[in-house]
Amino acid sequence: MARVFNFSAGPAMLPESVLRQAQDEILDWQGSGMCVAEMSHRGKEYLSIAAQAESDLRELLKVPVNYKVLFLQGGASSQFAAVPMNLLRGGGAADYLNTGSWSKKAISEARRYCAVNVAATTEDSKFTRAPSQDELKLADGAAYVHYTPNETIEGVEFPYVPDTAGIPLVADMSSTLLSRPIDVARFGLIYAGAQKNIGPAGLTIVIVREDLLGQPIAGTPTMFDYKIHADNDSMYNTPATYAWYLAGLVFKWLKDLGGLDAMAAINARKAKLLYDTIDASDFYANPVQPDARSWMNVPFTLANPELDETFLKEAKAANLTTLKGHRSVGGMRASIYNAMPEAGVEALVAFMREFERRQG
Ligand SMILES: *Cc1c(COP(=O)(O)O)cnc(C)c1O
Repeated sequence: MARVFNFSAGPAMLPESVLRQAQDEILDWQGSGMCVAEMSHRGKEYLSIAAQAESDLRELLKVPVNYKVLFLQGGASSQFAAVPMNLLRGGGAADYLNTGSWSKKAISEARRYCAVNVAATTEDSKFTRAPSQDELKLADGAAYVHYTPNETIEGVEFPYVPDTAGIPLVADMSSTLLSRPIDVARFGLIYAGAQKNIGPAGLTIVIVREDLLGQPIAGTPTMFDYKIHADNDSMYNTPATYAWYLAGLVFKWLKDLGGLDAMAAINARKAKLLYDTIDASDFYANPVQPDARSWMNVPFTLANPELDETFLKEAKAANLTTLKGHRSVGGMRASIYNAMPEAGVEALVAFMREFERRQG
């Protein structure tokens, strides 16, 4: 059976070499006589796996020493609550940028804990652009500013990091973390569910500046208190051990590839090839302003939506799967995260050109 090019928005493809290594090690991890999934999270072997993964992630992202890296569970959706619980620090308000479906969810969850000031919204343009720095109306006394650098559903990515004049910036990087280098010091907190660009579902990465920890709102569950996890090296309770191990293999794969500069160059080429193909045709269209187009999630429509089903069926027959757009947006969406090989995008654009020639 041939492996397919899976364009799913998440859970998404993993690098084939990572899966092969996991396969090699599945019955006996490096002479331990055990699968990693069978190991105690307190044992010497597993602790070395966990520490190596954290150190490789720190190296890839050049995480400064005054930041904690947490390996949690509960998905990015749990962070929608954990962020206000931990970062309000006695304040009653936070700024949120409303740029798509995921920021909307983050906003509605935050409203359970504080006054939300929507500091910018692009809803009137159907979330097809990123707001400019000049549009941001930050509130006096906001405890932090939250935004979604890459909106996975709409395919909109900020071309810049907002300047918040010293207010901690919080970023939901679920669908963009590790796609390119970032300057972690610009952020107070970064979080990401792993299943887009990091590893399997079940693991959530949080990178947080130490001085923001330790003032959770009253009633914060222990499991939602970042400081508890930081003080216990993410082992307050049993972490998602196997997902953490697989993420570690992905970090090694990225390092072998040359790190995030090398990954960024590949991702830029993949995105350009796909957007150029869409723009060169009257048959395909992408609604997002060119400067805010996502490198990771590329939504596109066919000139005749009646052909959508045929497109999906024939794509699947050509081993190009999960291209259906999100139900809220329609059309198609190709998610081309780190693990999607360039050959996958080349195969997709070849299929698109051929489909247009026959049906356009
Ligand atoms: C997928 C996604 C989420 C939700 O992640 P879960 O891990 O399923 O909770 C949140 N934000 C963004 C930007 C996403 O892409």
